[in-house]
Amino acid sequence: MITTCTIQDLRNMGEDYTGSVVAAKRFIRRRCPHQTAIKGIDCMKEIIGPTNEFRYCVASQNQDLNKQLLDIPAIPLLTLSRDTLLLSPLSAASQAKINKAASIKLLPSADELKRLKAVTGLDLEALKEPQLPLHKRKKAKGPNPLSVKKKKPEPKLQKIPSRQKTEQFPARSRSKCTKSYS
Ligand SMILES: [Zn+2]
Repeated sequence: MITTCTIQDLRNMGEDYTGSVVAAKRFIRRRCPHQTAIKGIDCMKEIIGPTNEFRYCVASQNQDLNKQLLDIPAIPLLTLSRDTLLLSPLSAASQAKINKAASIKLLPSADELKRLKAVTGLDLEALKEPQLPLHKRKKAKGPNPLSVKKKKPEPKLQKIPSRQKTEQFPARSRSKCTKSYS
């Protein structure tokens, strides 16, 4: 769709843009509240508004307009590069809105807060405010236990008295062996 002010803007640019005016008239015309035509950029910004309430997707080659629209979250911007239609990357404002919505989803709802208060008796209203997690850098307490080579336990030498050893394991006599073969 296109606004009346934008078509008038194209007409004001001269005869060279007659083709653009004819092409623009093919689009559905969006009514705007301006009795006398204003600049096309200003008209579009006014219709989009601060929140893009009607979820418009903007296709414009005007760099100034595109820069200004980056500050408004959730506006897909389309630009033409030679013969290719390009979708601009996600703006910082859009990303911030996504992050905020995600953090709110993680928090308990008003109903859940009431139930928690009834059960625990604690006032958990402070949880309603989204709190950004603080990233603290962990300090190394010591070397990585997985990379440290384990100490081998020292072999324990048990001193056995010579008498006991002989008593426990009596030595075989060769004479017995020789007798069994004979
Ligand atoms: Zn207008």
